[in-house]
Amino acid sequence: MVARISHWIDGKPWAGVAERSGDVFDPATGEVSGKVDFASSTEVDEAVGAAARAFQTWRHTSLAARSRILFAFRELLDEHRSDLAAIVTAEHGKVLDDAAGEVGRALENVEFSCGIPALLKGGFSENASTRVDVYSIRQPLGVVGVISPFNFPAMVPLWFVPNAIACGNTVVLKPSEKDPSAANFIADLWARAGLPDGVLNVLHGDKVAVDGLLEHRGVKGISFVGSTPIARYVYETGTRNGKRVQALGGAKNHMVVLPDADLDLAADAAVSAGFGSAGERCMAISAVVAVGPVADVLVERIKTRMADLRVGDGRRPGCEMGPLVTAAHRDRVTSYLDAGVGEGATLAVDGRDHEIDGEPTGFWLGPTLFDHVRPDMSVYRDEIFGPVLSVLRAETYEQAVGLVNDNPYGNGTAIFTNDGGAARRFQSEVEVGMVGVNVPIPVPVGYYSFGGWKDSLFGDTHAYGPDGLHFYTRTKVVTSRWLDPSHGGVNLGFPRNE
Ligand code: NAD
Repeated sequence: MVARISHWIDGKPWAGVAERSGDVFDPATGEVSGKVDFASSTEVDEAVGAAARAFQTWRHTSLAARSRILFAFRELLDEHRSDLAAIVTAEHGKVLDDAAGEVGRALENVEFSCGIPALLKGGFSENASTRVDVYSIRQPLGVVGVISPFNFPAMVPLWFVPNAIACGNTVVLKPSEKDPSAANFIADLWARAGLPDGVLNVLHGDKVAVDGLLEHRGVKGISFVGSTPIARYVYETGTRNGKRVQALGGAKNHMVVLPDADLDLAADAAVSAGFGSAGERCMAISAVVAVGPVADVLVERIKTRMADLRVGDGRRPGCEMGPLVTAAHRDRVTSYLDAGVGEGATLAVDGRDHEIDGEPTGFWLGPTLFDHVRPDMSVYRDEIFGPVLSVLRAETYEQAVGLVNDNPYGNGTAIFTNDGGAARRFQSEVEVGMVGVNVPIPVPVGYYSFGGWKDSLFGDTHAYGPDGLHFYTRTKVVTSRWLDPSHGGVNLGFPRNE
């Protein structure tokens, strides 16, 4: 059965008829499972209008009332973890256990936002000048747009929505058109948690919806996550239209393995972080940099582990890696296998030969390993965003860190070593936003913030956690004097603090 997936505006499903729609697939079977409505500028206006009306009340809703709704949402999300994970698997393809991990991380961000009354405290200075007090308050921006990618359809929206609404903003969420159902499920949970109509709206669609939000005068801020070219475009267009924008982009994450590393740990980590979620994670390891003499041993250990991976339908017990999200994406990723060979890399493991536990019509590609990759090759330069791992060889630590720093992306990286001094030097010298020491996917916890450097993030603030609160509020500073008869009369000089 093909489901219709439509917008959620002003607390209810949209009742209109869409002019355009897109196919949603079950990637494990290749079948069309849904048709998602694509918003026109009329629906953009409707969603922003609903959010703007709701803002008039929501911004004055007490912190106590907001945090009660956040706690209620947290309980509902916890109760429906497995339902949401099943929706993610059905449209994205990642295995159920991985989808459950995504929902677990989302929950942690909601838990951070539940503390909003303490988190939004301003500062107060009594007697900054005689009988004059100075204090700061943090106020919401207004309507904010959240534009999310396909690879974390539950977690990425929940990086932003809880903090945005906790701070008193109202939201129009534009999820990926490839796996849109998770957003509607989440919106329904918020409504059941008591969130007033219009505070969270879900607008489905493509570039038309995104451009509508970027150009709309009623939208004051944009949080975007996706590929680097679109992130750059969103940042430039949004800021040109006077909005506050944070735009998180793509990645090419390196894992540096020093000669003294535990090579079993490093091989486990490379395989887990390279092929988890079929490599469709912005924190996936896509380049292993083997330093000194360890490369051959490391490559053999990685190959042994890859051979044992069970690839198939994410709903089948025991499957560890699912399909790619669409046929077009699978074909693009697969095209790099021939490109890499053509450029002189060694195809050490060809994912096209891997046994699949699923329907042959699914969007499959098994785990693939390239060895002897050089920095000028397209398999290294491009973000492939699939189950393709490259091994590069460096003679020294300096060469390895130079490779990481010369790469235009700077999302995540990891070093594997038993030398604390080398690890400390790496964390200081590397030009990347999130660093792992013997940890291959160093995703910060909810009370820190998430974000890369260089072409992996456009804007000034990272996502969720303390940076999220900063992004979603404007600071106002009040200078106040009460009941002071000694104000001194007319004085045209610049005020002095005395
Ligand atoms: P994408 O850039 O294709 O799409 C992201 C969003 O932008 C979607 O909502 C999509 O509808 C919209 N969009 C697509 N093309 C557009 C256009 N021309 N104009 C305006 N809007 C457009 O990304 P994706 O394929 O959905 O997701 C994968 C990418 O996201 C990878 O590059 C990955 O590294 C990145 N990502 C980054 C992070 C991070 O934190 N840095 C996290 C997750 C994913």
